[in-house]
Amino acid sequence: MTLGQDDRKPSNPKQQHTKVPYFKRKETPCISYSYTPTVASKIYNYKRFLQCIDLSNPSLHPLPCECSSSDFNYSPCGHVITGDLSIVKNDKLRELLKKGPKYRESMSFTWNQNVKIIMDSCEEYARRWAKKEDVQLDTLSEWIKSIRGLLLSRINRLKSTVNTRFVSIFKDPDVITELTHLQEHYVITPADKASNNYTFTCKKYYFDSLVKELGLNATPGNPTYTPTNLSASEIIDNHKSALASFGFDTTNLDLDLPYLYCIPKMHKNPYKQRFIAGSSNVSILLTKVLSEIKSGLQKYCSTVYSRSGINQMWILKNSKELLEHLKSTHFSRVHSIKAFDFSTLYTTIPHSKLKERLAKIISNAFTSKNGNRKYKFIVVNYDKTYFVKEKSDSENKYTETDIIQMLNFLIDNIFVVFGGKVFQQIVGIPMGTNCAPLLADIFLYSYEAEFIQSLVSEGKKYLASDFNFTYRYIDDVLSINNPKFADYLSSIYPSELEVKETTETNNSASYLDIMLSYDTDGHMNTSLYDKRDDFNFSITNFPFLSSNIPSSPAYGVFISQLIRYARASTKYTDFVLRARRLSDKLLSQGYVCDRLTSSLRKFYGRYGELVIHYDVPLSRMVDDILSWTI
Ligand SMILES: [Zn+2]
Repeated sequence: MTLGQDDRKPSNPKQQHTKVPYFKRKETPCISYSYTPTVASKIYNYKRFLQCIDLSNPSLHPLPCECSSSDFNYSPCGHVITGDLSIVKNDKLRELLKKGPKYRESMSFTWNQNVKIIMDSCEEYARRWAKKEDVQLDTLSEWIKSIRGLLLSRINRLKSTVNTRFVSIFKDPDVITELTHLQEHYVITPADKASNNYTFTCKKYYFDSLVKELGLNATPGNPTYTPTNLSASEIIDNHKSALASFGFDTTNLDLDLPYLYCIPKMHKNPYKQRFIAGSSNVSILLTKVLSEIKSGLQKYCSTVYSRSGINQMWILKNSKELLEHLKSTHFSRVHSIKAFDFSTLYTTIPHSKLKERLAKIISNAFTSKNGNRKYKFIVVNYDKTYFVKEKSDSENKYTETDIIQMLNFLIDNIFVVFGGKVFQQIVGIPMGTNCAPLLADIFLYSYEAEFIQSLVSEGKKYLASDFNFTYRYIDDVLSINNPKFADYLSSIYPSELEVKETTETNNSASYLDIMLSYDTDGHMNTSLYDKRDDFNFSITNFPFLSSNIPSSPAYGVFISQLIRYARASTKYTDFVLRARRLSDKLLSQGYVCDRLTSSLRKFYGRYGELVIHYDVPLSRMVDDILSWTI
């Protein structure tokens, strides 16, 4: 259904007076919404900008900019890069942009049209249900009647209070003039780590950044990309025939080469650019295979850990896993917390090493420790991936050789388009493909495990156990109680990778969205750390209630954030600080205090185990978080 407001949902058969006995035992039918488009497509212009660049015609390149006289000039680069919406001069447009790119404008509607949409859906539901249950088509006719009655009476109530006419602000000529002006001068993109916010980057600077990334300017820069003589259509044909040779159906496959684009990392100082090479839809199978291999490695490593007391699996799923792990680990005393990150993980790994390391891990997954073949195939079905010893009737089974060939193909065939020219990525992880993080994970794991195993085989078991509390989430590393970790970086990782220490102070470090610290007694304390606190402009990250979306999921966001805060905060004061800041923000975005209070009660009831250690009754929590705002 396309809805103007969310009050017009059908109630479910369970709640009707004319209950069909069947439904007493069934789940409530699920209501699905089809949303109106977000405003993003009207605001972002980077795709259009990239499509218009033509390297063979330099006169079309962005003209000299006027950034030097702008209030929004970002001095380290001498051009405008900003997320500050005061750059937008038109009030109406600025108010809209404040609501973020996911905002959906309300649409005009008529009550009759809504009744028709809802009743058509109900009738369709009843018809399908009767068919499925093999009962008379009119079995649910009483239910339909009562829904209609309910609907009409509810509409009658709403008619006097609900506005049905809305005019899109994109019909306002002043808004259009201002937007056109902004889009002429700036490339408008999301911000890295704050995708619900707009950033404005000078067109000339944006263009120059991409040129530099591709190594097109005089200074021999990043050798990650190289121009290719192949045309886009040759590459696509080649791709298709390779896919066919791997047994994929390519008849309806619509392939396109991705554009290289970048988004500003505004939480870094100075700002950096994150380069993204669009997405290609060929790596889904490898993602499934590599996930299965990774979970096999994790099982294997946890067995090794429990038997030998040595942990060689540093890969972390998310910060929730870290918090659970820290909770279950009883450190007698925390005396060191260090954090690191890889400066350019994705663009510096040599392809030869990537292929060699991955092939070895894939091989190991198919082979027993004594070198004999353990599995013949890996079966990749829509919902399940598994290894088989000998036989499988599935059509989607692949041998070790198949998988390695596919991987090599993927690594050897990463292309991006810029300015009408095609470039090949000749170094690094295939960016933009969905298996990229897995490739990075498994690649780094191969070095980490090798390092630990070599320590063990040299008889340095004690030293190896110093690394037990090392965690790595893709390119972020955390090491607890191992103050010498940095000394070993060059022995662990290949020389091409640059790893930098990011530890904040002697006794604290931020890692993912967690701030970890320890006191003089060696007790660990965690609180939430939000990279977005480092932005120098206010950011949007929660839906506005005036957006054309149903309200319950919006309040659900409040609960899910409270869960996140409680998990991360050892101290009640840190939890309250976050929760208050959020409730304040939501109230300013049209949320109602009563409903926030009932969401908070719901949270307290359902997730008591997360807040029990605060030892604070619900009434006080409500007071601390919400009452002061009433
Ligand atoms: Zn500029």
